[in-house]
Amino acid sequence: MSRILVVEDEPGIALALEDDLRHEGHEVEIAGDGETGARAAREQLFDLIVLDVMLPRKDGFEVCRELRRAGIRTPILMLTAKTQEAEKVLGLDLGADDYLTKPYGHHELRARIRALLRRAAPEGAEMYRFGDVEVDFVRAEVRRGSECLDLSQLEFKLMAAFVHSRGRVFSRQQLLDAAWGRDVFITERVVDNQIVNLRRKIEPDPANPRYIVSVRGLGYRFDG
Ligand code: CA
Repeated sequence: MSRILVVEDEPGIALALEDDLRHEGHEVEIAGDGETGARAAREQLFDLIVLDVMLPRKDGFEVCRELRRAGIRTPILMLTAKTQEAEKVLGLDLGADDYLTKPYGHHELRARIRALLRRAAPEGAEMYRFGDVEVDFVRAEVRRGSECLDLSQLEFKLMAAFVHSRGRVFSRQQLLDAAWGRDVFITERVVDNQIVNLRRKIEPDPANPRYIVSVRGLGYRFDG
């Protein structure tokens, strides 16, 4: 069972979310505006925050920025009514982990929530497995079956960033920061090339990636 904070001002949507999440076995707390939501998130421990963008008193972007600045790393799933790409990118750049566009299907909502809760796994883990792939953080190696994959240092860093944030959508800029470090001047196209290389090594069918999936207009998500 997980504790989930829902920050949503429309009572109908808030109630439906509450019902749905309780039904899934989670404990739910509702905040009806951004200020109350931000305060609840700072004062109590939650496993996940579902955060609407359009909120009275403080919008979802502001709440997200404030929490990340305060060092709160609880996974955040943003609910956006807007379909503009720029809004989604802004949310992710401010530290949200994933977003859903309203109106969303309940299956999709549940799947996203499950993925985000799964990724809240310990960061100090020494080993992570998905499919027939094994990521060994102690030896900085990736194996597939009995074969040790020849990953470059950059590819390993990308792999590690993905594993540590399963279910999260990464923009190319965020992957660039994670693998190359800040203040390095390379183009985002280089990120795409590295992803192609990585997929070739870890995906069962690199042309139809199952683990490192493209998120249209935004970047990539690891569903391992
Ligand atoms: Ca709203």
